[in-house]
Amino acid sequence: MVLHEHRTPLRLEDRPAPEPGPGQLLLRVRACAVCRTDLHIVDGELPRPKLPLVPGHQIVATVEQGGNRFARGARVGVGWLGWTDGTCHYCRTARENLCDQARFTGYDVDGGYAEYAVADERFCFALPDAYDDLHAAPLLCAGLIGYRTLRLAGEAERIGIYGFGAAAHLVAQVALHQGRRVFAFTKPGDADGQRFARELGAEWAGGSDEMPPEQLDGALIFAPVGALIPAALRATAKGGTVVAGGIHMSDVPGFPYELLWGERAVRSVANLTRDDGHAFLAIAGLMKLRVEAQRFPLEQANIALESLRKGKVRGAAVLLP
Ligand SMILES: [Zn+2]
Ligand SMILES: [Zn+2]
Repeated sequence: MVLHEHRTPLRLEDRPAPEPGPGQLLLRVRACAVCRTDLHIVDGELPRPKLPLVPGHQIVATVEQGGNRFARGARVGVGWLGWTDGTCHYCRTARENLCDQARFTGYDVDGGYAEYAVADERFCFALPDAYDDLHAAPLLCAGLIGYRTLRLAGEAERIGIYGFGAAAHLVAQVALHQGRRVFAFTKPGDADGQRFARELGAEWAGGSDEMPPEQLDGALIFAPVGALIPAALRATAKGGTVVAGGIHMSDVPGFPYELLWGERAVRSVANLTRDDGHAFLAIAGLMKLRVEAQRFPLEQANIALESLRKGKVRGAAVLLP
C-alpha cells in the first residue's frame, strides 16, 4: 500500500520485491501494526517523508535472504529506527534515537504495509516466541515507545496515562508489573476505554478533564493533544515528570508557571534506541503481556487508518498481508 501524496488514500500496487543492499535483509512481512505516526505521515503533519512511500514501522517478518545475524526463515521485528550513522555526537553518547542522520522505517525508507520489505539487520530484533505475529507487531512501536516513555518518567509510583490506546494498554501492564500504580485518562465520556483500562489493572479511570483521586508522580501522554500537558501538570505532584510520547501534538496552550513550579518537568520522547528495544522485548518475553490487536487485511490499510483516526480501535490495529 503506497502513499503518493499527503491527505490522499494509500494505493494498492503490485511491485517487485525490493532488493536488499549490503547489510540488509529481504523480509517477508507477516504482520505490520498501524501507529498514530502513520496517520500523522499520511495527514502531512510530519515534515519530510519520502514520497511515494510504503508506511509501516511495526513489522513482524521472516528472513528470506541476506545478512549474518539471523538465519533464513528466522522471525524478526523491525521498528521505527531503521538506520543511524553511528558516528555523530548523539550516537557516540548512547542516544542514537537523536542521531542527526537517522533514517526511519516507513518514513525515510519503505516500511511494512507490504508483502516484502528490506531492513538493516543491525536494527532488527529477535522476538519472544510467546507472541504470534498478530500480537507481536504492536510490541514494536506501541510497546517500545511506550516503554521508553515510562522509563523517562523515572521512579514514579503513581503513573497517569493520557490516551488509552495501543501504547497505553501495553505500558500500563509493564508499569503494574514493576509495582507502580496506574491511573488512566481517556477522552471525556469514553466509558468503553475506561472499562478497558480498569480491566487491565488501572486502579482509577476517568476522563482527561477529571482530576485523579490522588496526585500523580509521573504522567505519560499518548494522545496528540497539546492541552493535555497543562492538564497532566495540574494532576502531578511536586517533582513529577510529564512525558509526551507522541511524535506530533497540537499546540500546547499557555499555562500559569505555578503548574510547573515545584520541580515538575515536561519532556518529550523522540524515537527509541536499540537498547530500549532489547530491554522491552526481554520484559515482554518474561511477563506475557495481554496484547489487544484488531486485524485488518493489508489492502484495508485505509480503513484501519480511518478507524484509528476515529478512535475506534481497541488496542492496536494490525495489517496482515
Ligand atoms: Zn509508531
Ligand atoms: Zn548518529
